[in-house]
Amino acid sequence: MMSPSILLIHTGGTLGMAPLGEPSSLAPGPSLDLILEQVPELRQLADLKLVVAFNQDSSTNEPADILHLARLIRSESADCDGVVLVHGTDTMAFTASMLGFLLADLGKPVVLTGSQRPLAYIRSDARSNLVDAVTLATKGVAEVGICFGDHWYRGVATDKLSVHRYEAFDTPNLPPLAELGLHVHVHPHAGKFDYHVPAGLGQAFETALAVYCPYPGMPWALPPAGTRGMILQAYGAGNLPMGRADLRALFRHGREQALPMVITSQCLWGSVDLETYELGALASEEGAISGGLHTRWAAIAKLGLVLGAGGGLAEVRAAFACSWAGEPV
Ligand code: ASP
Repeated sequence: MMSPSILLIHTGGTLGMAPLGEPSSLAPGPSLDLILEQVPELRQLADLKLVVAFNQDSSTNEPADILHLARLIRSESADCDGVVLVHGTDTMAFTASMLGFLLADLGKPVVLTGSQRPLAYIRSDARSNLVDAVTLATKGVAEVGICFGDHWYRGVATDKLSVHRYEAFDTPNLPPLAELGLHVHVHPHAGKFDYHVPAGLGQAFETALAVYCPYPGMPWALPPAGTRGMILQAYGAGNLPMGRADLRALFRHGREQALPMVITSQCLWGSVDLETYELGALASEEGAISGGLHTRWAAIAKLGLVLGAGGGLAEVRAAFACSWAGEPV
C-alpha cells in the first residue's frame, strides 16, 4: 500500500531551537533536515515533502507571514494528503485562526504543532507532538487544527493557556477534535462545519487595530490616527464602565469614524451577551458589536481579514454574526 504523502512545513519555534551563548537563551536553530534526522520514524508514517517557510520565534511573526503561509500551503499541498506545520507556540493560536479561515475549503488536514521544550532536549514533548501531528495529517479529516499534548483542537477556537504545561492549548468553548492516548480517537464533529467564509479574503490584513484590555480605573484614550477597527476586551459577559465620559467619547469617536467596535470577553469560557446586563446593553446602543464566543485570536483574525479585504462596518457586523469555519459564535 502507498504511504500517505504529507507536506511538512517549518516556520520555527521552540521545537527546533537550540541554546544560544552563555547564559543560554533559546534561539532559532537547525534546519528541518537536521530536525528530521532526530525523528527518523516520521518517515515510516508518511512520505514527507519538506518546505522551510521561515525559521523564527513565532512572537516575531507578522500577519503577512501568515498570508504567505496560506498561499504556500495551497500551492504546495495539491499532491499531498495532509499538511503539518511546525510553529512556535506563542502565536500559534493566531496563526491557527487565520489559517482556519483562509484554508477552510482546502479539503485536507492542516495540523499545526510545536513544543514546549526543544527536540534536542532529552525530556521533550517535541517528538510525541510531531509523531501525533503527522499521524493526524494522514487521517483525511479536513480541519485546520492544533495538535498539542494529547489533543487536536479546531484552530479557529484555540488559545494558548500555559507557558509550561505540555497541555498548553485548549478550545474553551468547543470539545477537542481528537484525543491521542493509547488510541487515536477522532470525535464525530471533526471535519464537520458549515463553510461561510466570504470570497476575496487573504490578499491583505489590516493591522491598524486598537485593542483595549480594561482594568478598573483605566483611562480610555482615543485610538491613534489611522486606526481602522477596535476590539474591547470587556469584563465577563461584555460589560464596560459605561458611566465613564472618556469611554463614551471613545464610542462617539468610533461612530463618527464608522470604526467597527467589537466586544470580546476577558473570560475564556462562555459568551459575550450584550443583553445580560444594563452596561452591555448600553454598549450595544453605542454601536458595539458583540464578539459572542469568538476567542481574542479569532476576533482579531476576522476583523483584520475583513478590513484588509476592503470591508467596513456592515461587513464586520455580518462576520461576527455568523460562523465562517466552525468557530463558536
Ligand atoms: N517563543 C517560542 C515561539 O513561539 C515559544 C514556543 O515555541 O513554545 O516561537
